[in-house]
Amino acid sequence: YYFYRMIYRAKRLYLLYDTRTEGLQTGEMSRYIYQLKYHYQVPIQEKVVSYDITVKENQIIQIPKNEFVQKQLNRFLSGGDRALSASAINTYIDCPLKFYLGYVEKVSPEDEVAESIEASTFGSIYHGVMENIYQRMQGKLVTGDLLEKIQKDDTLLTNLIEAMFAKHYFQTSRIRPLTGQNYLTGEIIRKYVKQTLITDRKHTPFIYLHSEFPIDTTHTFDGTRQIRLKGSIDRIDEKDGITRIIDYKTGKGETTFKTMYDLFDPQKRDRPKAIMQVFMYAMIYSQINHPKSLCPGIYHLRDLFKIQFDWSIIHEIKTEKKRIEQTIYDFSPYIQEFTDTFNKCIQEIFNPEIPFKQTENTQICEYCDFATICKR
Ligand code: SF4
Repeated sequence: YYFYRMIYRAKRLYLLYDTRTEGLQTGEMSRYIYQLKYHYQVPIQEKVVSYDITVKENQIIQIPKNEFVQKQLNRFLSGGDRALSASAINTYIDCPLKFYLGYVEKVSPEDEVAESIEASTFGSIYHGVMENIYQRMQGKLVTGDLLEKIQKDDTLLTNLIEAMFAKHYFQTSRIRPLTGQNYLTGEIIRKYVKQTLITDRKHTPFIYLHSEFPIDTTHTFDGTRQIRLKGSIDRIDEKDGITRIIDYKTGKGETTFKTMYDLFDPQKRDRPKAIMQVFMYAMIYSQINHPKSLCPGIYHLRDLFKIQFDWSIIHEIKTEKKRIEQTIYDFSPYIQEFTDTFNKCIQEIFNPEIPFKQTENTQICEYCDFATICKR
């Protein structure tokens, strides 16, 4: 009724329809047009209107290291006011442009209002609980019985979880019982903490040395220049004269590597970033404290519940005839090769001839905050 009422007195009528067939759209013209055409035999002139869409090639973005950029970079050198962390270096390996934007220019993504706990806050709460559990045992012998007692002390764990929620999530000194979603997250953290203690029991007896051990040091990377490095080692303990440094990772990840170059290879799928990080800490810790023997390890929390969970790092050596898996209990045979490869990476960051380029590995762009800038 409305349709015919509307066109009743029209001298010229334009009817448009969309020929695209997407989702529920059939791409056909309306039955009213068919009616005009076939039933009422109205003379209709049909036209297909199209337009060209030429998608511009994405522009390649690269930042040359001009005087200004070099000045910014020099702030990371000895005497400067900034320091590089392991995650900054891992970001550079992933994508030099991402490193430039995030760490040199300090472009940060817009703050979003988070309704639930983000992965980083989850990690901080877990780290905080573990640090508090071990703090009281500094320099002391940790036994299996002691860890079992803590693991079963739910009141203690609840108090620590609530205290760490107040500190890292609510950002207040007022500790309150957790409710709703936060309560559930707290229970997941409790499970991870308990499982960590069960894993630790297998390593007992050991001497607990430090948690969240701060690193702020300089490192010579090209004979003359020194870079400032910073970080925090999640846990350091000692057993049978071997110092163990542990990095907790909230996700899952690789604990096996084939060559040292793999740790720095941006093209490598699922590059073992966590190994690069814990090796960097091992290198720095060796330079500062000269332990007799140093053993790096990673606790990937998502893997903790696997029966065959192992925190050790494995070096996979392939010969013509067989494949050997060598567990790294002593970092010293690896330190020189790691230091050389690490230094090459730092030299590249400071090389004025090499611009900050976009990564060729688009897998990295999938979760990058700068994907809209790069149109990737
Ligand atoms: S979107 Fe990709 S190319 Fe662009 S900065 Fe991020 S990782 Fe690098």
